[in-house]
Amino acid sequence: MPKHPVIAIDGPAGSGKSTAARLLARKLGYTHVDTGALYRTVTWLAIERGVDLADEQALAAVVPAIQVRFEPSADGQRVFSGSRDVSREIRTPELTRQVRFAAASPLVRKALVPVQRDFAERGPCVMEGRDIGTVIFPDAQVKFYLDAPLRVRAERRWKELTAAGKTVTLEEVEREEAARDESDLRRSTAPLRRADDAIVVDTGRFDVDGMVEHLAGLAAGRLGGGRR
Ligand code: C5P
Repeated sequence: MPKHPVIAIDGPAGSGKSTAARLLARKLGYTHVDTGALYRTVTWLAIERGVDLADEQALAAVVPAIQVRFEPSADGQRVFSGSRDVSREIRTPELTRQVRFAAASPLVRKALVPVQRDFAERGPCVMEGRDIGTVIFPDAQVKFYLDAPLRVRAERRWKELTAAGKTVTLEEVEREEAARDESDLRRSTAPLRRADDAIVVDTGRFDVDGMVEHLAGLAAGRLGGGRR
């Protein structure tokens, strides 16, 4: 059992996890832990250090140095590695394509387990990722599995990218999301999978406010009101 309440949110890329996790955490006064940012920061730091991403041992050796910290900000949250703000660097399309090395590596995943569990030692959190309810916190008090049709997810990501000034077509984004789904679902270590006791939510059916209300209501039911 985690020391503090944990709300685990898993699901594929573009399922609306990050927005839901951020707003739910804000509403409940919990910390929002974006575990995808950890895999991204491992990848970023490895590239900075000239590490060959295909060299699993060398990649896993980078994990203790990532020292990730999250800070809420007006436009979401900022990610720091040590004192360096890496929020932009870890979300470029190039880095997004390269993160699969860290995600598929059993050694990297193993090294990141205590890093993720540590966040829940410090206080209640909403933790989002791919394996939070299955591997990191199988005893989480609340588990959600967020999903939406590929087209809906690709459209969301495309809007984010174009709003950030990137020139990409919806078809390109859809192809990349499908490729990431494929590698997240098929990898042998901690593949993306719904925990048996997770509540499945189709985020395509809600607007953002409606979704957060829906999740908060379900979470309150599972937390039994008094445990927040
Ligand atoms: O959520 P986000 O897209 O930022 O995650 C980046 C990548 O990290 C994903 O494509 C996925 O392969 C990996 N990841 C993971 N397990 C997690 C979180 C992210 O494998 N818990």
